[in-house]
Amino acid sequence: MSVKSITILGATGSIGQSTIDVIKRHPDRFKVHALSGYSRMPELAKAAVDTNANCVVVPSDDAACAFRQAWSSSLPMPEIRVGEQALVATAAENDGEIVMAAIVGIAGLPSVFAAVNAGKRVLLANKESLVAAGSLLMSAVVQHGANLLPIDSEHNAIFQCMPPCSKTLNAIGKAGVKRLVLTASGGPFRRYPLEKLASVTPQQACAHPNWDMGRKISVDSATMLNKGLEVIEAHWLFSMGADEIDVLIHPQSIVHSMVQYTDGSVLAQLGNPDMRTPIAHALGYPERIVAGVDFLDLAAHGKLEFEAVQHERYPCLGLAYAALKDGQGACIALNAANEIAVEAFLQGAIGYLDISRVVEQTLQWQQRTDNSPVNSLADVLALNEAARTFAANCRQTTGSQITGTT
Ligand code: NDP
Ligand code: MG
Repeated sequence: MSVKSITILGATGSIGQSTIDVIKRHPDRFKVHALSGYSRMPELAKAAVDTNANCVVVPSDDAACAFRQAWSSSLPMPEIRVGEQALVATAAENDGEIVMAAIVGIAGLPSVFAAVNAGKRVLLANKESLVAAGSLLMSAVVQHGANLLPIDSEHNAIFQCMPPCSKTLNAIGKAGVKRLVLTASGGPFRRYPLEKLASVTPQQACAHPNWDMGRKISVDSATMLNKGLEVIEAHWLFSMGADEIDVLIHPQSIVHSMVQYTDGSVLAQLGNPDMRTPIAHALGYPERIVAGVDFLDLAAHGKLEFEAVQHERYPCLGLAYAALKDGQGACIALNAANEIAVEAFLQGAIGYLDISRVVEQTLQWQQRTDNSPVNSLADVLALNEAARTFAANCRQTTGSQITGTT
């Protein structure tokens, strides 16, 4: 068995750290080529020591300086690469055979494209890139023969439940597939009084009942904008229409998603809520490898519950379905507005309910102003910037007073 080299983009984050945990269990299979970090240099230095990485990518000279200061090991320091171009070049270079794309947000888009265009096995955690550029990205996967494997637990589950007609996602058939069912925990506010939602804090919103994740995706899970991004992600990964993708609340997060077939069969993938399972699945695919995850004890759980989504509690989910039906421009606006609004909420600048208001206003702006087709990565990034600017203006007027002006 040859040892595969891996580049982990977003190595300091929740997915990055889980990836390192799995890789370290398999020194006979994997070695780390490169790691990227953004603000957490001590964590990046520790990860580089742990994995004996050849190089690290950081955003600025200041970050490089902080990395050097954080290096306390007697091991030789890895090569330090600086800036966005270095990130893109590292994602594409031959030394990393597998690329884990685990940067959060639209910032991950150029490096995802670089890895796909280089024809790599790309383990895609960065769902925002599929939301903002699904059509372009899936075309690039086919054109460059990349092997795109989903890390998002729902999509990894669906991938596992799809017909075994192909070894690669881009060639997967959907013969007999009727619907996809994405499960959702409902987040921390599933039973929270609706009239109190306006005053929930970032800390409450980030306290996910089942998953330990980064702050942005934790807030997205509370609003269920995350599930909306996942509906769009599923649309592109599995070529299913918005009306063929359902969302079902499942508070225990044990059933990670399901595929319904025309003969009435429903296949589901189950497991404890631990991202090391989908990460190990994609790292080892098509083989199964140890993930370090506790095995599921269904008797201990006793019962699994399911319920319909209360849409008035989660307006962001409906906005995401609407954006998917509207087209790529709307999906870009949805994602951009959400990134701005979540950041503002985490900083205490706007309230929880303002997140959906900013997103809705930005979608309306996009419908009013933008009819231009999105044909290139540059088009995606330009519309993303314009939508971010609108959303940032939007969020400066708080609560129900929000009115966009650009
Ligand atoms: P985290 O916030 O924990 O980590 C984000 C990573 O991205 C960190 O390494 C961070 O660096 C880096 N980063 C942040 N901003 C930038 C930037 N502008 N440029 C370059 N790098 C940047 O997020 P998660 O690990 O939770 O999520 C990562 C991705 O995976 C997201 O797209 C998320 O939706 C997806 N995902 C996550 C799941 C989870 O369980 N966590 C589940 C399914 C999908 P630093 O920390 O050094 O600042
Ligand atoms: Mg998910």
